[in-house]
Amino acid sequence: MLTRKIKLWDINAHITCRLCGGYLIDATTVTECLHTFCRSCLVKYLEENNTCPTCRIVIHQSHPLQYIGHDRTMQDIVYKLVPGLQEAEARNQREFYRKLGLEVPGDAKGEACSAKQHLDPHRDGETKADDSSNKEHLQGQPRGDPRCTSPVSICLECNSSKLRGLKRKWIRCSAQATVLHLKKFIAKKLNLSSFNELDILCNEEILGKDHTLKFVVVTRWRFKKAPLLLHYRPKMDLL
Ligand SMILES: [Zn+2]
Ligand SMILES: [Zn+2]
Repeated sequence: MLTRKIKLWDINAHITCRLCGGYLIDATTVTECLHTFCRSCLVKYLEENNTCPTCRIVIHQSHPLQYIGHDRTMQDIVYKLVPGLQEAEARNQREFYRKLGLEVPGDAKGEACSAKQHLDPHRDGETKADDSSNKEHLQGQPRGDPRCTSPVSICLECNSSKLRGLKRKWIRCSAQATVLHLKKFIAKKLNLSSFNELDILCNEEILGKDHTLKFVVVTRWRFKKAPLLLHYRPKMDLL
């Protein structure tokens, strides 16, 4: 009995994030020392630091974010050991999108990915009851493709003096969300009258609104393991 308790307690220390004290969410490991944290906690920390929060080794002098990686095995272990955590996280994500009045991208529901629903202009800005959108969402879509399930971490920087920066510029969202999603997100946060006033850029190239974040990462972003850095500014003709 006693042995068992000690073992569980030991495990707990390994599946907890040192930065937030909670169970690991989107577990992300420093490649150099193999210490693991929640992705959002670690990315935020590395904005200001270049060392591992646990062992203090220098991860990289100038680009520490390129030396961290999603740790799927660890996340699977955490979800297996902590009952209800995965469901709670999925609920949090749904809540996050719902509060913003955005459609819930596929994998926040823990389902197959579909770019389709995000491209349909008739559904812009609509929030649907879980049930109906689930059904539409699943029609004819491949299920369980693991490449579609890792969320993308994004840093949204403003590069225009005409617009405000975001209070929270680090966000994490579904790889199947589109550039249009991000435009709506920013427009909502900045109280813009229309998301059409915005351009979003990656490596100084304007992104098409129908591109999924997965597509942007694969085609435009060299640093596969680092969060995707995007800039926004008013559309050129509005400058
Ligand atoms: Zn954390
Ligand atoms: Zn470390």
